[in-house]
Amino acid sequence: MADSKSASNGGNLEKYMKLDQNGAIMAEYVWIDGSNGVRSKCKTLFKKPTSVDDLPEWNFDGSSTGQAPGDNSDIYLRPAAIFRDPFRGGDNIIVLADCYNSDGTPNKFNHRYQCAKLMETYKDADIWFGIEQEYTMFDSLGKVYGWPVGGFPGPQGPYYCGVGNGKVYGRDVVEAHYRACLYAGVNVSGINAEVMPSQWEFQVGPCPGIEMGDHLWIARYLLERVAEEFGITISFHPKPLEGDWNGAGCHTNVSTKEMRAEGGIKAIEAAIEKLSKRHKEHIAVYGTDNEKRLTGRHETASIASFSSGVANRGASVRIPRSVAKEGRGYFEDRRPASNIDPYLVTGIIAETLFTT
Ligand code: ADP
Ligand code: MN
Ligand code: MN
Ligand code: MN
Ligand code: MN
Repeated sequence: MADSKSASNGGNLEKYMKLDQNGAIMAEYVWIDGSNGVRSKCKTLFKKPTSVDDLPEWNFDGSSTGQAPGDNSDIYLRPAAIFRDPFRGGDNIIVLADCYNSDGTPNKFNHRYQCAKLMETYKDADIWFGIEQEYTMFDSLGKVYGWPVGGFPGPQGPYYCGVGNGKVYGRDVVEAHYRACLYAGVNVSGINAEVMPSQWEFQVGPCPGIEMGDHLWIARYLLERVAEEFGITISFHPKPLEGDWNGAGCHTNVSTKEMRAEGGIKAIEAAIEKLSKRHKEHIAVYGTDNEKRLTGRHETASIASFSSGVANRGASVRIPRSVAKEGRGYFEDRRPASNIDPYLVTGIIAETLFTT
């Protein structure tokens, strides 16, 4: 293991991982905490669940995660989605759960609850999302991974989709994460190296409705777990480095049944018109510190105003060239930052498309 903080080495662990589990199943419950991160804890099950309905509710100490006061600290975990566990293998599972207070109301950081309601209300529109998650790797000393001590790599240019020594950083983590996502059943659609060295992107989707948030959160969880083993720290900050270095976003691609059908470009244009009227409201939930990223430089639009265009990576919303050509497909909202809660973003987009 690369990280000295790890108590074991891989060889020692392997011996134990080969022991059979005596019929038991390990279920790692994952939830979103009070600081836009993930937490998890594990429970032994004695029967393989076939759906979330077979899984028990559970709880944790919300005062230790910034989710509840100490004098009323129990937060309930309600299973929402099941994935295969790529770390333990076998019949072991990862359970995405959402959080409820002791009185049964959704926890203040549970944005899945409202999002699921919206997606259910608008389900006839068959809305799909695809999110491009950008992130940055740091080493254990807090330096961007692979960058020279006390200095900088050469300027941006050779790193985007880079190939070759000195042009690509941390590919082993990326490969491991890609495989882990596929194994788990996360709908990962691709991966590429980004413009800033040690910055990467993975795409999840298209996913219908609520599945977008579920799959993206589990993909993030898997990334943090994989990186942990390599001694690498993942940052979802939208502008991890000041200066002439690209920020990190979560471009959110959107389509409805109507947009995907013949002549769907009309519905795409109507949707963009609706989005343009609620720019400020959207920016409010499109990630913290996003003003450091949406400067109008580095392939972004200014945070101050809404813009759109075909094939324009300097606009708030882009219609891909191929979509304009075919007259149907999807649009890309380029404003969301890398640290969004995807439930908030997909929720407000759905609500904007179908109400205003
Ligand atoms: P970019 O050119 O912006 O870098 P990417 O290839 O990285 O594009 O990402 C495209 C994203 O669009 C993927 O996440 C994919 O799942 C998503 N996508 C493709 N088709 C649709 C669609 N019809 N509706 C919603 N999302 C879609
Ligand atoms: Mn305890
Ligand atoms: Mn992309
Ligand atoms: Mn990108
Ligand atoms: Mn994009």
